[in-house]
Amino acid sequence: MAKIALEGVDKVYSGGVKAVNHLDLEIADGEFMVLVGPSGCGKSTALRMIAGLEEITDGKLTIGEKVVNDLPPKNRDIAMVFQNYALYPHMTVEQNLAFGLKLRKMSKPEIAERVKEAAAMLGLEPYLKRKPAALSGGQRQRVAMGRAIVRQPQAFLMDEPLSNLDAKLRVQMRASLNQLHDRLGVTTVYVTHDQTEAMTLGDRVAVMRDGKLQQVDTPKNLFDRP
Ligand code: ADP
Ligand code: ADP
Repeated sequence: MAKIALEGVDKVYSGGVKAVNHLDLEIADGEFMVLVGPSGCGKSTALRMIAGLEEITDGKLTIGEKVVNDLPPKNRDIAMVFQNYALYPHMTVEQNLAFGLKLRKMSKPEIAERVKEAAAMLGLEPYLKRKPAALSGGQRQRVAMGRAIVRQPQAFLMDEPLSNLDAKLRVQMRASLNQLHDRLGVTTVYVTHDQTEAMTLGDRVAVMRDGKLQQVDTPKNLFDRP
């Protein structure tokens, strides 16, 4: 777990679009922070800069105690979950969960232990021997989250992970995400355009518009005002 701090962070894309404009945001150790705002406001760009998938034009980004501006994604110890869960179609759920750990040369017993734990947390035990094609959308999204969980990273970054699911599944997955966060307490940055999602998931919510941070507060303070 680690805090994440953005100080005066700018992103100007090569075409000249200023996608993120002087973003100051501190996410506490173990906090679930939601970035919310309309399409095009810069949420994904902000998240991708934290992940190291996009260069920072100006400003300072710290994860834990480390300034990570120039650190490649693989050295940031974060795990990202996208809306298009990229599972390996030829592998079973179990193999999908284990794959990243195998690449890291982790021992077989430890891999088995982590896979078992993640599968239990996500209710995936009955599906471990199935391939992704034989899973529902919600089950696939759980596997995608499982792949992030087994890595035991310092932070989770999630970009609209529920937006491909139908309304009923979204409600279920929101509850699962809340439970997971309560259990694991891993610092999480979660991007969505959906206010309900922001409200039900976030410890705090950062509202963005036109590349700028408009306000940051608890869901209660932001949305329950008369
Ligand atoms: P959001 O996630 O809130 O929908 P984005 O971060 O995707 O917003 O986009 C913010 C702005 O940056 C938009 O104007 C978008 O068109 C622009 N943008 C995003 N990605 C790129 C890119 N790779 N090249 C140029 N402009 C981009
Ligand atoms: P996975 O762990 O998802 O099976 P790989 O092990 O092939 O994927 O990952 C290749 C590199 O990308 C690794 O160095 C890892 O640190 C990084 N990486 C893998 N998964 C993620 C993720 N979900 N978010 C961010 N970086 C990742």
